[in-house]
Amino acid sequence: MLAVTKTHPRSVVDEARRAGINLFGENRVQEAASKYGDIAESVELHLVGHLQRNKAKMVPGLFSWVESIDALATAQALSKRCEAAGWRCSVLVQYNSSGETSKSGYEDESLLLDEAEQMAGLAGLDVRGLMTIGPFVSDQAKIASAFARTRLLYERLRGRLGEAGVDTLSMGMTDDFEIAIAEGSTEVRIGSALFGARS
Ligand SMILES: *Cc1c(COP(=O)(O)O)cnc(C)c1O
Repeated sequence: MLAVTKTHPRSVVDEARRAGINLFGENRVQEAASKYGDIAESVELHLVGHLQRNKAKMVPGLFSWVESIDALATAQALSKRCEAAGWRCSVLVQYNSSGETSKSGYEDESLLLDEAEQMAGLAGLDVRGLMTIGPFVSDQAKIASAFARTRLLYERLRGRLGEAGVDTLSMGMTDDFEIAIAEGSTEVRIGSALFGARS
């Protein structure tokens, strides 16, 4: 379980750490840098929001994972920055399983697989799997089918890149994590269920 602390203050992070949580997520680079800059070495921090290419230089030393890779050019820029800094970064390729245009991520599955294969050849990154955000609807069957589609794509990715290093399927949030787990998620990203509603 990734504890997503976006919008919440540092005191909430400290409290979560005292409760034994060491795996955190943030969706904005700048906010993460100010909140986690001095403790980045003692926690594992994942970026779950869109990474602008010009912010890739801020990843080394801060995020050990970027879960939201949605373009080959971003992965290339990130790899270059990581290599230069001697930082190894695990990445997930983001799949837009809902087809909602407001969401980032690849919609085209064969393009995702082709580009993920190229990303796997980059020296500064380890491609570890897929991340998706489920559709924001109340129809549980629709949510389940988006997650099931993501799981199938994840299996195809493992077929292409080898199963050894590709071990993470990040799907499920506060409102849909039970469905995501039933559909094969290996990582859920939980914010409001842990820390309350965001203002
Ligand atoms: C905010 C956020 C979460 C956590 O959302 P909750 O519904 O509060 O659990 C998970 N993943 C991403 C990508 C997010 O931006």
